[in-house]
Amino acid sequence: MNMEISRRSFLKGAGAGVAATTIGAFGFGEAEAAFVAELRPYKLAGTTETRNTCPYCSVACGVIIYSKGDIAQGNAVAMHLEGDVDHPTNRGTLCPKGAALLDFIKSETRLTKPKVRRAGSDKFEEISWNEALDNIARLMKDDRDANFIERNMDGVQVNRWTTTGFLAASATTNETAFLTYKAVRSTGIVAFDNQARV
Ligand code: SF4
Repeated sequence: MNMEISRRSFLKGAGAGVAATTIGAFGFGEAEAAFVAELRPYKLAGTTETRNTCPYCSVACGVIIYSKGDIAQGNAVAMHLEGDVDHPTNRGTLCPKGAALLDFIKSETRLTKPKVRRAGSDKFEEISWNEALDNIARLMKDDRDANFIERNMDGVQVNRWTTTGFLAASATTNETAFLTYKAVRSTGIVAFDNQARV
């Protein structure tokens, strides 16, 4: 777990500790006890660390999210976040947007479930991930079957699917990005992009 002690709080604590120790050497040991009693409990004690990627921009900085609760049960609550010092991209640093990610996570307007606006409707309705993925797969299959171009006018095999586009995210590992690229291109999709244009 990354210890989070600022230089100011360390010097303050160390200075007070030295003073209390000095006082203790003169027989005032209770001063140290009072100092220790005043220290706040370490706020990250008992938290779970989860590595993740900042979703804001294509730099894709690594972050560590500290949460309390059971992640498997879906009731974990993120309570602290910091840059991942082991991440090769940012080495523990975060820009102001990344440093404010906790507000993004806890935002009331954050979309956490898939929604669909059905044909003819004027509003979005929540659906399950399974339904969303089934819908997407169905629409893609139907469109590809109807519009796939196997050969151009000269009879050259081109295997193009130009009527559907795919927007991916660059906030992934190289391996995930490679597999995404291979999967999308294997369908014949030409319009394929992400925010990093890679
Ligand atoms: S921390 Fe800042 S620079 Fe890094 S990915 Fe997030 S927005 Fe981009």
